[in-house]
Amino acid sequence: MSIAEIDLHSALKKYFGFSEFKGLQEEVIKNVVAGNNTFVIMPTGGGKSLCYQLPALIAEGTAIVVSPLIALMKNQVDAIRAVSEHEGVAHVLNSSLNKTEVKRVKDDITNGITKLLYVAPESLTKEEYVDFLRTVKISFMAVDEAHCISEWGHDFRPEYRNLKTIIKRIGDDIPIVGLTATATPKVQEDILKSLGMPNAVTFKASFNRPNLYYEVRPKTKTVDADIIRFVKQNDGKSGIIYCLSRKRVEGLAQVLQVNGVKAVPYHAGLDAKTRVKHQDMFLMEDTDVVVATIAFGMGIDKPDVRFVIHHDIPKSIESYYQETGRAGRDGGEGHCLAYYAYKDIEKLEKFMAGKPVAEQEIGHALLQEVVAFSETSVSRRKFILHYFGEEFDNETGEGGDMDDNVRFPKKQVEAQDDVKILLETVAKTNEKYKAKDLVQVLVGNSNALISSHKTDLQAHFGVGKAKDPRYWMALIRQVLVARFLKKDIETYGVLRLSNEGKDFINNPTSFMMAEDHVFDEESNDGIVTNSKGGGAVADEKLMSMLKDLRKRNAKKLGVPPFVIFQDP
Ligand code: ADP
Ligand code: MG
Repeated sequence: MSIAEIDLHSALKKYFGFSEFKGLQEEVIKNVVAGNNTFVIMPTGGGKSLCYQLPALIAEGTAIVVSPLIALMKNQVDAIRAVSEHEGVAHVLNSSLNKTEVKRVKDDITNGITKLLYVAPESLTKEEYVDFLRTVKISFMAVDEAHCISEWGHDFRPEYRNLKTIIKRIGDDIPIVGLTATATPKVQEDILKSLGMPNAVTFKASFNRPNLYYEVRPKTKTVDADIIRFVKQNDGKSGIIYCLSRKRVEGLAQVLQVNGVKAVPYHAGLDAKTRVKHQDMFLMEDTDVVVATIAFGMGIDKPDVRFVIHHDIPKSIESYYQETGRAGRDGGEGHCLAYYAYKDIEKLEKFMAGKPVAEQEIGHALLQEVVAFSETSVSRRKFILHYFGEEFDNETGEGGDMDDNVRFPKKQVEAQDDVKILLETVAKTNEKYKAKDLVQVLVGNSNALISSHKTDLQAHFGVGKAKDPRYWMALIRQVLVARFLKKDIETYGVLRLSNEGKDFINNPTSFMMAEDHVFDEESNDGIVTNSKGGGAVADEKLMSMLKDLRKRNAKKLGVPPFVIFQDP
């Protein structure tokens, strides 16, 4: 069948009930139907599935769809079956099928009934399946969530690495369609290489989500109270709150419940039945809020999620973008609120400690971007889009004023002289200190480690004592982001000068630092609190309710569920 003979629009109407293609869909589909390798980069909700489903339905043979998400595959299969004459039009092939079921799938494919065959990448390693697929007509191979192939992506899956070999075994000239919502130039390059399709035609949609409002607040002890207040102000609206740990998820869900918010927890530690139940409650609006680990959300297609809160900052900008992308999919309001403390970055760094050095390097680089994003004073949207290789102009671009930094600009101060002092101190002390000790040197506080080194740094001891230790810590972070300094991975965090840093010492240039950061009193290690936004204080009543509940639940959960509120 040639492209000319196909009325794509009528197929769109017939199978999906839509009258218009969305964004680049039509161009993509033409390219797929023409049998070319195709690379599709569209944000979540952009309509990528249709880019392979529609061509599969009208092409000769069976399209193989690789996806890491079993639940999602099932949804898609059900949806396609619902509008087709034959149930065999779409199948999932996986290890849970019994012999009879596998035979049925094979028969439907052989008889040309099956247009879409969904497989998890690990199932494709099964000899039996590959041997069978070699013998039938395959229209093309779609690799959904293609970023899983890259270690630079936010969701690397080793099984994806074998895909290239497997595809070659199934058929030498099978067209490949790679799809992802995550493509930094680095991931993009990785996907093309790893799938073996350097010649693919690439279709990239804009990643701008103009209806999302981005905001980063400093994370202080009152973060839970702050979140409760936010949720209560958005009473009745659907939202997702992401936490790093299961314990936090449980704790925060309870705090919300106590405060009369309809909230349920979701994490991989809950049994499958409970997870499905909570997910359905969210979709059916029996609960307003899901407090979740990142286990929640892949494939959740609830259009009217009105806010996504990150209680803990994620480990990369990609993850952040993916997770916030679940807000406002219907084009309506979507508030993305992240709580940031540098401590959390250090926590994430610690998780990486045991991993291979190469992996750690990637991890650190990604985290550095998260720090930069959180501490930046430029438009968050501009920052994110720049990260994805897009230029964005705040004055003219859609959604240009939809973030905290644009609406409430931070004041900037010139820190050129201090950066020079900082970098010189690193040089004069022979690059042997981690950030915390370096700050002690700068302000002239001795400790055991510094005393043992003292002779070679006398000239610089206390050179920065005019400023607060917390000021120096914040400056170090911003200088790391600017890459004048780097953290040594082998020695876990010793600061070293980069070439750019050495250049700066000889040739200092302007260095603007966001000024209106005040620094948390309790901590020397760089929690930044913003004098404007931060510092929400729990009211008396809430505090005492929480304390009661904490007592009652401490035993049950094995951990105090509310670590945020300290006893007076
Ligand atoms: P992605 O995989 O890019 O995140 P999906 O394929 O899941 O996006 O599609 C997101 C939503 O957009 C789905 O609800 C889908 O039905 C809808 N959609 C896709 N194409 C169209 C279209 N042409 N017109 C209207 N809605 C569409
Ligand atoms: Mg998708």
